[in-house]
Amino acid sequence: MKYTYFNPTAVEFGEGKIESIVNYIDKNQKILVVYGGGSIKRNGVFEQVSKVLEDYTWFEFSGVEPNPSVETLNKAVEFIKENKIDFVLAVGGGSVIDGSKYIVAASVYEGDGWDFLEGKTIEKALPLGAILTLPATGSESNPTAVISKYSTNEKRYFASPLVFPKFAVLDSTVMNSLDDRQLANGLVDAFVHTCEQYLTYPNSSLLHDGYAQTILKGLHTLAQDWQNRRTALWQENLMLLANQALNGFIGSGVPQDWATHMIGHELTAFYGLDHARSLAVVQPHLLRVMIKDKQEKLVQMGKEVFDMPHNYEMVIEAIEYMYHSIGVSTKLKDYNIDDKVVENVTKALEKHGMSKIGERGTITLEKVAQILELSMK
Ligand code: NAP
Ligand code: FE
Repeated sequence: MKYTYFNPTAVEFGEGKIESIVNYIDKNQKILVVYGGGSIKRNGVFEQVSKVLEDYTWFEFSGVEPNPSVETLNKAVEFIKENKIDFVLAVGGGSVIDGSKYIVAASVYEGDGWDFLEGKTIEKALPLGAILTLPATGSESNPTAVISKYSTNEKRYFASPLVFPKFAVLDSTVMNSLDDRQLANGLVDAFVHTCEQYLTYPNSSLLHDGYAQTILKGLHTLAQDWQNRRTALWQENLMLLANQALNGFIGSGVPQDWATHMIGHELTAFYGLDHARSLAVVQPHLLRVMIKDKQEKLVQMGKEVFDMPHNYEMVIEAIEYMYHSIGVSTKLKDYNIDDKVVENVTKALEKHGMSKIGERGTITLEKVAQILELSMK
C-alpha cells in the first residue's frame, strides 16, 4: 500500500463552536460571507455569525443554488476583485461550500474559472473557512468542489489542496431546521461516498475496511432509527459520520470507484435530481450490472454491515430497502425523465473523457446504458 494522507482543516465540533472562527481570521481581514437561498436567515445561524463578526469588516453574498452554478458564482468573483476581499466564509451545505471553493480559486485567477473544471491546476486561492449547516458531502474538510454550468447542462468537479477550508465548524444544533428530504439526502450521500471507496477490489487494509464498515454500519443504524431523526444525538451522529465518509482517510491508498457519482452528476445536470437521489437511482443497478467485480466485497459488506452473510444479491436489496425506508427512490422512472436519458448521459460522459469508469475502468458506456435501463424499468 502507498499513499499520502493530508488534511489541514481544523475541525471545530460541537454546540457553540461558531464562536471559534475568530481564532482563525485576522481582525484586519476583509471577509465575504457566502450563503445560499436564505435558510440561515430563518434558522438563526446568520444572526449568530453576524454577532461573532461584529469587530470585522464583512460583506455578504447570497443566492448560491443547490448544485451551484458558475453563472452565479462568477458574480461573487467580480465582487471580490472589486472590493479586495481577503477571506471567504462559507455558511451552508455542500453547494455553498463547493461554490466557495470555486470562488476562492477563481478570484485570484486571470482567466475563466471554468478552466478549473476542465482540468487546469489551481495555483493559488484566497483562504476559506466553512460553517456547515447540512451534513452530507464532507466538503467542509475536503479538497473537492462540484460545480455546474447551467447554460450547457454540465456538472463537473475539481480538487486542489489549496481549497481545503482552514477550519470547519460542525455544530449539529444548526440541523434542527433541516427537512426530512435533506436529512435523507445527507444519509444517502454519505453512504454512497463510503461505498465508492470501500466496495472496490483489491483492498488489503484491515484498518481502511474496518473504518469504512463502521461508517456504513453507523449510517445504517441511523436509517433504522429514522423515527428519532429529530433528536440531538441522531443529528450529531449524522454530522460526524458524513464528515468522515469523505474526509480523505478511507480512500487513501485504496482503489476508488466513483462511477455512481459520475453518472449521477450527469443526471442532475440534465434533469435536476437532488445529488443524493441521483446516486440512489444508479448505485443498486450499477452493483447488479457489475456484479462480477463487486461480489467479493458485497459479501464482506453483507457480513460486516448488514449481518447478512454470503448472499450478495440480498446485500444489494438491503441497500435498496434502506434507501426506501427513509423515502428515497431507487428508480429513475419515479422522476420526470425523458426517453433521451441514456443518450444524454452516455454522450456527456464521453464528452467529459469518462467512457471507462469505475476502479478498474470496466464500466463502459454500454454498461452505463444497461444501468440506466434497469433503473427505468
Ligand atoms: P445543498 O445543495 O448545499 O443544500 C440543499 C438545500 O438544503 C438548500 O436548499 C439549502 O438551503 C438547504 N439547507 C442547508 N442547510 C440547511 C439548514 N440547516 N436548514 C434548512 N435548510 C438547509 O445540499 P448538499 O447535499 O449539502 O450539497 C449538494 C451539493 O454538493 C451537490 O452539488 C453535490 O454534487 C455536491 N457534492 C460535493 C461533494 C464534495 O466532496 N465537495 C461530495 C458530494 C456532493 P440554502 O440554499 O438556503 O442554504
Ligand atoms: Fe456525493
